Amino acid sequence: MAYINDNFTKIHHRYLFAEVAKRVAAYKEQNPDAQIIRLGIGDVTQPLVPAVIEAMHRAVDDCAKAETFHGYGPEQGYNFLIDKIIAHDYTPRGIHLDSDEVFISDGAKSDLGNIGDILSANNVIGVTDPVYPVYVDTNSMAGRQIRYIPCTEQNGFTGDIPAENLDVMYLCFPNNPTGAVITREGLRRWVDYALSHNTLIMYDSAYEAFITDPEIPHSIYEINGAKECAIEFRSFSKTAGFTGVRCGYTVIPKELKIKSSDGSLVALNPIWNRRQCSKFNGASYISQRGAEAVFSAEGQRQTKEVINYYLTNAKIIRDSLQKSGFTAFGGENAPYIWLKTPKGEDSWKFFDRLLHSAQVVTTPGAGFGTSGEGYIRITAFGSRENCIEAMERIEKIG
Ligand code: PLP
Repeated sequence: MAYINDNFTKIHHRYLFAEVAKRVAAYKEQNPDAQIIRLGIGDVTQPLVPAVIEAMHRAVDDCAKAETFHGYGPEQGYNFLIDKIIAHDYTPRGIHLDSDEVFISDGAKSDLGNIGDILSANNVIGVTDPVYPVYVDTNSMAGRQIRYIPCTEQNGFTGDIPAENLDVMYLCFPNNPTGAVITREGLRRWVDYALSHNTLIMYDSAYEAFITDPEIPHSIYEINGAKECAIEFRSFSKTAGFTGVRCGYTVIPKELKIKSSDGSLVALNPIWNRRQCSKFNGASYISQRGAEAVFSAEGQRQTKEVINYYLTNAKIIRDSLQKSGFTAFGGENAPYIWLKTPKGEDSWKFFDRLLHSAQVVTTPGAGFGTSGEGYIRITAFGSRENCIEAMERIEKIG
């Protein structure tokens, strides 16, 4: 007899994007001619840049010849990519990493979920609320208890340091869904909390490429002591349009140790390496060659242009909303705008009103957690024309 992992049958059913799709489909059926603008989901819309396309074409050609064919690669990723990541993303910020501290993945979502493999089911998990649902779902699947740290206008959507002991804390800055960023001092407070409570921080910096303000940290390792308490997750998805290609990376410093049940300290780096060697066969050679091209001079110039395109969209959205009298957060150093609903309107009601009166699709904040009620998320990943048109329509409804 086989038995199910009961946690999966008990898990909270996520209906957010399914419900959004259902409401949009119903509206479309009644209004077949409606020109709907979708600023709801967080996928990118601009194509891969030429430097990446050319590198992936070359990689495909490599695989066409016996002398340059690539089969299974290292489970940890190719050094040609790891070395570029370290040289470009970490060394210039004064962060020293050895190549075996960076693990190439097929995107941040997989590793954010898989990392739970090496953690006890007894850990109490802290997440910010509103939250990227992956942290909650994957820990619920493992039967772990979750504590929610409210991220509100009052605390700049960065969460107050909790009084209680959390074993693991997920932080994401720039944040999805609020678009909030954290200052060095703000992040320092979380690192100090982690060091004094033996908390392991999972730092999701999937959106770091959108940071333009030099005062905002790109990596948690810019904070002293973070190598002893934090794992960092990054992705080429939003940085370089890899949502379909799939490539990311996870940093586990060798200094990072947590307790085993006998009280001894165990380094996580070799344990994660062991896990990857048993359960992962590496990201594809073609994806990794594409990711490597992001760090070439051309790749940098071209991907920055795309990021700036989205950041300009974000500015247009935020400025027009504010001009129309709305209160909007985020959208600076981040591709998400967190719009406060007028007069505390329920976020699903406001979502419906925008759909019916402006034919604009957004995401109701309540779907990201209790503290998301009273907000909606608008993404800047659409086309420029759609962003401008959507704002003109929203302005009309006031
Ligand atoms: N982390 C956050 C906060 C995200 O919003 C996303 C994707 O939307 C991811 C991670 C996953 O990125 P990837 O495409 O690398 O799996």
